[in-house]
Amino acid sequence: MNVEPPPPPKRAKGFFTDTSLCIGCKACEVACKQWNQLPADGFKMTGNSYDNTGTLGATTWRHVQFIEQAKANGSRQDQRWLMMSDVCKHCANAACLEACPTGALIRTEYGTVYVQQDICNGCGFCVPACPFGVIDRAPKHGQFEAGTAHKCTLCYDRLKDDLTPACAKSCPTASIQFGDVEELQERARRRLGELRARGETKAELYGMPEGKEAAEVGPLHAFFLLLDKPQTYNLPEVPRLPRKTMAERYGWSAAVGAGFALVAALVFGGRR
Ligand code: SF4
Ligand code: SF4
Repeated sequence: MNVEPPPPPKRAKGFFTDTSLCIGCKACEVACKQWNQLPADGFKMTGNSYDNTGTLGATTWRHVQFIEQAKANGSRQDQRWLMMSDVCKHCANAACLEACPTGALIRTEYGTVYVQQDICNGCGFCVPACPFGVIDRAPKHGQFEAGTAHKCTLCYDRLKDDLTPACAKSCPTASIQFGDVEELQERARRRLGELRARGETKAELYGMPEGKEAAEVGPLHAFFLLLDKPQTYNLPEVPRLPRKTMAERYGWSAAVGAGFALVAALVFGGRR
């Protein structure tokens, strides 16, 4: 059999999303859908500010969140609007890839995580494994084969041609920055210093090698500068890898089973 060798590794590529620059225009969502030929989500009023997309999904690989914040004292001057373009994090230790039994999910030569559509059998193991709720199975009657898993490819096809991913290319404010991960990390640290010096005391980076969120999933190839706690943006404070929580969960199951056995012994044993 003639097996093609894997391409040689290249410098790791990724996204630095600086949410302090996002204006919520959704050009990134549209460019992603256009380049990847993903169907529209339909125009729905979610009742959640200007967010009519709702969530990342099989046919939505970028999602711009709108978070309206008001201070408890009700002061109009203290109100603010946080916006953040969310995406697959292309984790260094990717739970989706670990859970995939067919080898459909692979690490590319750019260090990103990619789903090979011709190998995915639609088992869906990757979906609950992802600690960020990113990867999703295609709807039954969509353009994709029913049930197969989909997510951001970091525009793998564009990377092969030395092109910038469509979302970063279209972002008018450079909120989404694309490049070599190590350079982007340095840029992010400098930007955080600038913002803190300007009084943005709650600003923090999410997904950096030194962050506590990298403890299990490793540094994220798509990382963020946030203006508030990760939970505000629906990001887990410390994302967990399923394989790391298995011992804990088996322990709980054993404890609950032992508890039931004890109760049964007390109830039925006492009737004799
Ligand atoms: S964010 Fe989820 S889907 Fe993306 S690489 Fe990490 S585990 Fe996989
Ligand atoms: S294109 Fe840039 S500014 Fe517009 S919503 Fe996306 S990240 Fe924000």
